[in-house]
Amino acid sequence: MPLVPMKQILDEAMKENYGVGAFNVNNMEQLQGIMSAAKDTASPVIVQASRGALKYTNMYYIKHMVAAAVEDNPEVPISLHLDHGNSLETCKLAISLGFTSVMIDGSLKEDSKTPTTFDENVEVTRAVVDYAHGFGVTVEGELGTLGGIEDGVGSGKVKLTDPDEAVKFIKATGIDALALAIGTSHGAYKFKARPELAMNIISEVRSRVPDTPLVMHGSSSVPKDLVDIVNRYGGAIPDAMGVPIESIQEAIKLGIKKINVDTDGRLAMTGAIRKFLAENPSEFDPRSYFGAARQAVYEVVKGKMIAFGTAGHMGDYKPTTLDEIKKLYAI
Ligand SMILES: [Zn+2]
Repeated sequence: MPLVPMKQILDEAMKENYGVGAFNVNNMEQLQGIMSAAKDTASPVIVQASRGALKYTNMYYIKHMVAAAVEDNPEVPISLHLDHGNSLETCKLAISLGFTSVMIDGSLKEDSKTPTTFDENVEVTRAVVDYAHGFGVTVEGELGTLGGIEDGVGSGKVKLTDPDEAVKFIKATGIDALALAIGTSHGAYKFKARPELAMNIISEVRSRVPDTPLVMHGSSSVPKDLVDIVNRYGGAIPDAMGVPIESIQEAIKLGIKKINVDTDGRLAMTGAIRKFLAENPSEFDPRSYFGAARQAVYEVVKGKMIAFGTAGHMGDYKPTTLDEIKKLYAI
C-alpha cells in the first residue's frame, strides 16, 4: 500500500467515530515501534514529522525510513504528515519529499512564536490549501493557540478557539482538518492538576461543520508510570501531568479524530534507555538499549491505538491515491 492522504484516514474515522493517533517520528526505532503497534492492532496510522525532525534526519532519512515502513507493512494505511509547518515554503518542501499531508500552523507567524491575526492566518492557510490540493495532499490548519512550547513551537500563551471564528475559518480556507485550542498544552509539563478542557468548543464546531475532522494537539497523557521510570533511573522530571485518556476518549466522541502524541513516546524511550543502561552497566551495543526503547514505544502506541478506538480498522477501506483525491478537490 502506498502512503495514503490523511484525509482518507480521517474521513473513515469520522464514519465510524473513532480517533487516530498521529505519532511523531525522528528515528528508526521510534518508527518501527509505531509500525509494529499498528500492525499488531490492525490500525491505520498517521506518522508525523516536525520541522525539528526534518532537520534532525536531514530530510532524506525521514523520507526513506517512512518508505521502508510502507514496504515493511503493506497492509497498513499510513499517512505521512508535516507537524506545525510554519510557512508555505516548508509545506512545499514536505510535499516535494512525498508527505501526503501538511499542517500549516497559521495561528503563529513564521517564527512559530508570535500569534497572528485571524486574517493573516486565513491568508497563509488558504495559500497552502491552494498549493497542496493541487497534489491531492491533505491540509490541517490551526486556530487559537496552545500553552507550552515544544520543538521551538508555541507562543506560550493559551488562546482558546472561538467556535464562530472556527466555522468562518474552515469555510474561508478550504482546509481538510482543523486543530482546535481547547486548553491543552505542548510538552510534558502541561498541568499542575487534572485539566479542565473546553469540550463545548468541540461540540459546537462539530455541530456547525459536521464534515470537517477536528484535531487535538498537546494530547499526550504523560502517564505517571513512564515518568516514574525516568526518575527512578537517574532522570529529573518533576511532577508532570498530561491529558487523561478518558478526556481524550470523550473528545473523540464529540468530534476529535486526530490526536497528536509526541511527549509520551519521548518519555517511553528515555525511560527504557535509562533503565536498560542502569541495569546492564557493561552493555555497550546500541542495539540493546535502542531495542528496549523501540519496545517501549511499541507498548505506549499500542495502548493508544486501543484506547482511541483505532484498533481493528486497518482493513475497513481500500486505500486511495493522491491522484484520486486531487480529482475530488478539483470538482
Ligand atoms: Zn502541536
